[in-house]
Amino acid sequence: MTLTSPLTDLKGVGEAVAKKFAVLGITSVGQLIDYFPRRYEDYSRLLTTAQVEPGPVTVQATITSVTGRYVRRGMHITEAVATDASGSIRLLWFNQPYRATALKSNQAYYISGNYELSHQRFAIQNPSLELVSDFTVNTARIIPVYKETKGLTSRQIRAAVAQTLPVLQKLPETLPLWLVAEQQVVSYAQAVAAIHFPESSAQLEQAQRRLGFEEVFQLTLAALLNKQANDHEVSVAVPFVADLAKQFVSHLPFTLTDAQRQVIWQIYQDMQRTEPMNRLVEGDVGSGKTVVAAMAALMALAEDWQVALMAPTELLARQHADTLHKLLQPLGYADRVSLLVGSMTTKQKVAARAAIAAGAAQFLIGTQALIQDSVDVHRLALVVIDEQHRFGVDQRKALQAKAGHMPHVLSLTATPIPRSLALTLYGELDVSILGVKPAGRKPIITKIVSPNSRADLYQTIDQELASGRQLFVVCPLITDSETLNLNSAEKVYQQMSHTDFKHRRVGLLHGKMKPADKTAVMAQFVAHELDILVATTVIEVGVDVPNASIMLIEGAERFGLAQAHQLRGRVGRGQDQGYCYLMLSDSKPPGRRLRALESSNDGFRLAELDLELRGPGAIYGRAQHGQLDLRIAKLTDVKLIASARQAAQKFIDNGEDLLHYKQLAHTVHKLRAVTNLN
Ligand code: ADP
Ligand code: MG
Repeated sequence: MTLTSPLTDLKGVGEAVAKKFAVLGITSVGQLIDYFPRRYEDYSRLLTTAQVEPGPVTVQATITSVTGRYVRRGMHITEAVATDASGSIRLLWFNQPYRATALKSNQAYYISGNYELSHQRFAIQNPSLELVSDFTVNTARIIPVYKETKGLTSRQIRAAVAQTLPVLQKLPETLPLWLVAEQQVVSYAQAVAAIHFPESSAQLEQAQRRLGFEEVFQLTLAALLNKQANDHEVSVAVPFVADLAKQFVSHLPFTLTDAQRQVIWQIYQDMQRTEPMNRLVEGDVGSGKTVVAAMAALMALAEDWQVALMAPTELLARQHADTLHKLLQPLGYADRVSLLVGSMTTKQKVAARAAIAAGAAQFLIGTQALIQDSVDVHRLALVVIDEQHRFGVDQRKALQAKAGHMPHVLSLTATPIPRSLALTLYGELDVSILGVKPAGRKPIITKIVSPNSRADLYQTIDQELASGRQLFVVCPLITDSETLNLNSAEKVYQQMSHTDFKHRRVGLLHGKMKPADKTAVMAQFVAHELDILVATTVIEVGVDVPNASIMLIEGAERFGLAQAHQLRGRVGRGQDQGYCYLMLSDSKPPGRRLRALESSNDGFRLAELDLELRGPGAIYGRAQHGQLDLRIAKLTDVKLIASARQAAQKFIDNGEDLLHYKQLAHTVHKLRAVTNLN
């Protein structure tokens, strides 16, 4: 057996079971080994039957009697008695009639399970049994619990993983040996074996420390190498013209916040250099990032350079084009703005490209693919990435190849990444934080609402609508689902437009609509030709309709903390008090996430809390960053992160050659493509 052996080489894994594993992305022994448990259950402490107390327990005993019977409504119960020197204990299985015949009497078993009350008597329910031996898989140890899939249980996964132990124990070391020694961590082979089948909790901790360290080490090494590479590239110097900046600011309908001023200044410093800028501006929703981008663009446009602004959705691209058109109008640069999105007609696209080629349109605003694939960008000096998460090294290189130089890159994000994390993961980026929102913003009032208060809530909302405000309704699904009892956008739209709010103008917006229809509905809402917009999360980022002061989130418990906070940022952007109602799907009490949302408007605080609640795992507010998720390392483990970071720096300073470490090189190569996440 080797890492590349197919899973079907394992006992108990036939074609059918292999298909189930494939659902989890596992087709080879190597992938199985790499499938780490998500949690553990500790059944390691052996008790006598007399010592057993309610809760998870393990005993060593023999089966002295087994009976099976059908009880009411066809339910089958198998009842067994397990006996040791101290006494005996009852075991119960439900609907597993085969149990009775599978149990051997007069054999010593390890028996693990939850000892609890059932029909007025205590018993271990649905216990696991294994004949007593040196190496057990399901009992008498710390048991790994894996993420399961339909028809594939942790028990089956355990049985498969257990067979890989001979391979596991021979896995070659993946870290430089000097680092293993210096960090006093266990070997890769030991760590991986122990992450699946730890002999003790101390051994499990050592394994987690080793593998967590390695994860962060790889990630920071990738980021540092990216930075090094970027620093060697050459960009164009864009001079700073103070008068132009002053003029721009004098036409704004507001004064810049100190935070905006400071960040713009940092950007201008960067752009004057020939080293390419690679700066991330983090600012909570509504902190005013667009105007910062506009000012950066202005300097480049003034020198006849091109600027590209890439937005994650067409909706947002269109809105940005409008906003930037308005912002640049007083300076005479409005005509240079050119929108480039998929839903434009072929004729419009041809015209836009011609204008770009002729140099008339220099500020390209669109979705990434369009700008990247199809436009002449040889005068490109600055790329602004708004709320986009996949603009990595490869994308930058592609633009560089076209332009003949590396453009400056400015990334804007409202995904509030805790500072500690930003420093670690974004080692290659300079980070600016827009920490203060424009003055006069009232904090959004957020309330958790249970479905039986819906009628009252609608009354409250209707009063706001009567006074001229608008409402966003966000639903977790487009259409009703058979399996999930959630209000879909279509259903809520029907109910609101025909019943509850039939006297109001209601619109529907979701991702499956034609782009032209989406644009039309959005335009109607912006123009206040609609009072209510029922939508899915398509409105999550960037949408700016200051008159919309109320948001109702349906099935609120379905949304992640960061996402709900993003959504909420769509309201409270104007003069009026903003409201966000978190409607629960049922009358179960709300969880910690929603309560946190109710009590705080601070994206950074919420992000840190989110991190705590999730533990290791998804790093960012959004799920789509699969490749970067840490499986083991806790991002709140400051010490681990600091030492991994130091080690990565030392690796570079020592002039180590990555190619000497096959596995490390492979992982770092993959990570380098995605670490520049922005
Ligand atoms: P985000 O950071 O979420 O992208 P926007 O750039 O869309 O925020 O700005 C949100 C709103 O705040 C916009 O309507 C914008 O015009 C306004 N705004 C930006 N800066 C200021 C400021 N300094 N004072 C008042 N309003 C501002
Ligand atoms: Mg924005």
